[in-house]
Amino acid sequence: MREFAKSLREHGWEVDYRKMADAPSWLDALNDHLQYGPDELLVMEPNNWSQHEKLNSMAASGIPVRVTPTCQFVTPREEFFRFGKGKKRLLMEAHYRQARQKLGILMRDDGEPEGGAWNYDAENRKTVRDWKKDGAPQPPAAITSRRGQSLILAEVISEVNRWFPDDVGRAEDCWLPTTRDGALEALRQFVEKRLPLFGDYQDLMLQDSQTMFHSLIAAPLNLGLLLPMECVAAAERAYKSGHAPLAAVEGFVRQIIGWREFVNGVYWLKMPDYLQSNGLGATRKLPAFFYSGETDMNCLSCVIREVKDTAYNHHIQRLMILGNFLLLAGISPQEAHDWFLEMYIDAHEWVMAANVLGMALHADGGFMATKPYAGSAAYISKMGNYCSGCNFDPNKKSGPGACPFNLLYWDFYDRHADRFASNPRTSMMVSAWRKRPEAERETIRREAAKFLAGLT
Ligand SMILES: Cc1cc2nc3c(=O)[nH]c(=O)nc-3n(C[C@H](O)[C@H](O)[C@H](O)COP(=O)(O)OP(=O)(O)OC[C@H]3O[C@@H](n4cnc5c(N)ncnc54)[C@H](O)[C@@H]3O)c2cc1C
Ligand code: SF4
Repeated sequence: MREFAKSLREHGWEVDYRKMADAPSWLDALNDHLQYGPDELLVMEPNNWSQHEKLNSMAASGIPVRVTPTCQFVTPREEFFRFGKGKKRLLMEAHYRQARQKLGILMRDDGEPEGGAWNYDAENRKTVRDWKKDGAPQPPAAITSRRGQSLILAEVISEVNRWFPDDVGRAEDCWLPTTRDGALEALRQFVEKRLPLFGDYQDLMLQDSQTMFHSLIAAPLNLGLLLPMECVAAAERAYKSGHAPLAAVEGFVRQIIGWREFVNGVYWLKMPDYLQSNGLGATRKLPAFFYSGETDMNCLSCVIREVKDTAYNHHIQRLMILGNFLLLAGISPQEAHDWFLEMYIDAHEWVMAANVLGMALHADGGFMATKPYAGSAAYISKMGNYCSGCNFDPNKKSGPGACPFNLLYWDFYDRHADRFASNPRTSMMVSAWRKRPEAERETIRREAAKFLAGLT
């Protein structure tokens, strides 16, 4: 914000910018600003519900407010409402195809998708074994401290330390671009150095390579330093020039105009009740190790320590390690949502709500995901390299040393068997569980209950 105010001033604008010491919240700043008696407040559509409500109440109290469409998304809210209104569940794929057609991205002249397919997911799921066979490619370092890069950053680091001395993380380690030029450079580096292998290793989780080939552009995008279509256009150019393969570029485009727009649409469609969703009745408290990383489960420990240090994990770490554990352990979705909001540099309510409550925790009753993203140690050991450094055994289903993900996975399907037996995408899990000998099921129930009782 300070860099933005500076650049506006450099372009000749008069800027009334309040620092935190003067106005602790945006609303305080706005109220202070009203002393100038503006003819009208011209505001871009806010991204979060509470700001939207506040602006409505200001308008109702006679303050002239004019809202303009947002430039941070390409699907207008009204259009998404038409797409989703009245439906029992929504499919991201349907939204994505519509968006590609409407925007003409990776489309051929005959109206068919480039390459003849909409989706290259199957090519974008290389495992640890595949990665090793490929010669274990490593991306260039993407997270490096920007300390010392600008006076504004130095000033903000010292204020953050003064105002929030006990919060998670170290402001000195800030690696984010904070200016428009910095954000464009981060995008350029991604397209040049990581996009070509983005697709191949999109789902891979490595404890010695935190970011893999991901873009790290969520924070600048969510802050408005980058615009979605310029990211998509940069990737499409890389495909057309032969720099990056179609599967990688399609995978990236799918994230931006597919998932990002979709979760935003779901948020506006479902708010304000969505935040209270708890379709699976999960009430357990968030374990304290989510703040310390001190747990014998190596995958969780590594990923939590990484987010503490950098405020970043990539998508599969968020979904299939953190979200998966919270889902299987029956942690309260609201506690989980608050934790994610606290820990990530790209966190905003509009994007967390559907990702945490809908996608990761299935708390919206399957509105936006046809089945829960539940996985046992088999998934984590295939797609990650955490298990070799762990005290638990990913191949053991029960007994001493059995991986807790295995116990919790089957216990989850036991607890929710009736609900998931009638879902064609999960009924096989339930019947596999039900076919097991009763003594084996009882052992898993007992060991899972003991593990859960030990979570504090
Ligand atoms: C439990 C959970 C919590 C999440 N919380 C956030 C959050 O607070 N803020 C956030 O921006 N994303 C969130 N995501 C989505 C996604 O994990 C992050 O956008 C991504 O990991 C950011 O890293 P990246 O920029 O390297 O992304 P890449 O993997 O390089 O993807 C490119 C871009 O696509 C967009 N994108 C991809 N997937 C999603 C998605 N599911 N929802 C929205 N945008 C997506 C992002 O803008 C991202 O920068 C969350 C996902 C889960 C499962
Ligand atoms: S054995 Fe289980 S807890 Fe340990 S790293 Fe593997 S999946 Fe995680």
